[in-house]
Amino acid sequence: MIPCSKCKKTSVVFLQSSGTNLCKKHFMHHFERRFYRTIREFSMLKGVKHMGVAVSGGKDSLVTLALLSSICNDMGIKVTALTVDEGICGYRPATIANARAFCRKIRVKHNVFSLRKSLGVSIDGIKKKNKHALACTYCGVFRRWALNKLAQASGCDRLATGHNLDDVSQTVLMNILRNEPMRLSRFGPVGGDLEDDAFTRRVKPLFKIPEKEVALYAILSGIPASFTECPYASDAFRNHVREFLNDLEEKIPGTKYRVENAFLKLLPLLKTKAGSLNHCSICKEPCSSSVCQACSLLSSIKKGVFEKTKSKRC
Ligand code: SF4
Repeated sequence: MIPCSKCKKTSVVFLQSSGTNLCKKHFMHHFERRFYRTIREFSMLKGVKHMGVAVSGGKDSLVTLALLSSICNDMGIKVTALTVDEGICGYRPATIANARAFCRKIRVKHNVFSLRKSLGVSIDGIKKKNKHALACTYCGVFRRWALNKLAQASGCDRLATGHNLDDVSQTVLMNILRNEPMRLSRFGPVGGDLEDDAFTRRVKPLFKIPEKEVALYAILSGIPASFTECPYASDAFRNHVREFLNDLEEKIPGTKYRVENAFLKLLPLLKTKAGSLNHCSICKEPCSSSVCQACSLLSSIKKGVFEKTKSKRC
């Protein structure tokens, strides 16, 4: 038995970042403190009246929803959970049911946006039309588009996502490896550098918390997160980057934090170089060119042309 560094109880985790062993109570306290500190540090709740939380039913989104809804309740901020159904049979229906049950339990309103019903497309349908089409490319673009639509339709003035330290460090590295650093200019802890009424700004309260700790917090606090994996996950370029970073983290602890901190130092410079925000000439959603990525992918699907290049998002 290894005792907790703060009390005599049995520890449940060793935190490499601080070199401490923590018992359940002290780990949960430490986790929640970092969550609240990140919210304060980046003023994530400043001026917010209605918080939307992107919820997939997985651990990151449910932990974000559980902690954020508790703070928002105390502050009189309305909360709505938002889910995009991308149409992935054998995976998404179960995670949506999980999200729905959790929202009911904590009494949070839950709105779902179905790509099939709204756009007439689904990720399964795209793969059926062309088995070589990279699911994650379509899924990422359509999900981001749908989340903004849903947040706007639900009246949310801020949208929280469950991106954790692992997700952020992977995204930073992926965009560097693709030589697309400018894509990161709107990917900070508070996303979007330009105010636009048609764009609901995003916040990432788990920004500084490693994925393993989010999973442990979900288990210890009894949050019924789904741990099933998407059948198309092997498509993702992200998997290679994840493996690389996990391997490096094992050999050189603190690697993920350093990647994220380097990104935070570069972010102000990237923001000065970011282009202006336009509105898509087809759907009117905010985007950086004349037609948004979702509309351009939709029109290619109609023409039978499929994206087979490496995935840009996951
Ligand atoms: Fe979508 Fe790819 Fe993630 Fe599956 S792994 S949910 S297809 S982005």
